[in-house]
Amino acid sequence: RTSGRPDGLNPDIGGVSDAKNLRVKLVLLGDSGVGKSCIVLRFVRGQFDPTSKVTVGASFLSQTIALQDSTTVKFEIWDTAGQERYAALAPLYYRGAAVSVIVYDITNPDSFNKAQYWVKELQKHGSPDIVMALVGNKADLQEQREVPIQDGVDFAEKNGMFFIETSAKTADNINQLFEHGVAHMKVLSCKIMN
Ligand code: GDP
Repeated sequence: RTSGRPDGLNPDIGGVSDAKNLRVKLVLLGDSGVGKSCIVLRFVRGQFDPTSKVTVGASFLSQTIALQDSTTVKFEIWDTAGQERYAALAPLYYRGAAVSVIVYDITNPDSFNKAQYWVKELQKHGSPDIVMALVGNKADLQEQREVPIQDGVDFAEKNGMFFIETSAKTADNINQLFEHGVAHMKVLSCKIMN
């Protein structure tokens, strides 16, 4: 038992709550150009506008969602802000993150091959309890697909992640991605409690 909280969330991994209001730090990882900023903007502002990236400029954006059981979850979503081009992200980026999302582009096999690197980074810098998601983005570009769904499924299973394909452009599975993130966190917390 690492948490005496009634909801079982461990504050050390970023799951802070009062009654039914949770606050969750979520970090995005993945190669430049896979659509991380577009996923955040779709989720937070409900729009697809690749040109607004430069104007965001904040270290994180937040968005609150209500779950079916009337729990509200406030996400603090950290985007790399282009820092993924350099050797490594600052440890501060990972600190306190309860959920991590590794994004690749289904039309770009190199971006998928980089997932292993990001898993290693998380193992090095992230909390051992961090929830890991693997996301194949740009699922609207089926005709240009070069990474089969099954490759994503297999990689995720091997690394204890949950897997989803999204499209920031059409909004497919974007909300589901964040909802799944919390759902997996709760499952994890139950395990901690028991
Ligand atoms: P980041 O560097 O990972 O933050 O990637 P961006 O969010 O800046 O997106 C990179 C490019 O991919 C932009 O030109 C977007 O228009 C495009 N993009 C992002 N998401 C999608 C998507 O779901 N579908 C399609 N077709 N293009 C996308």
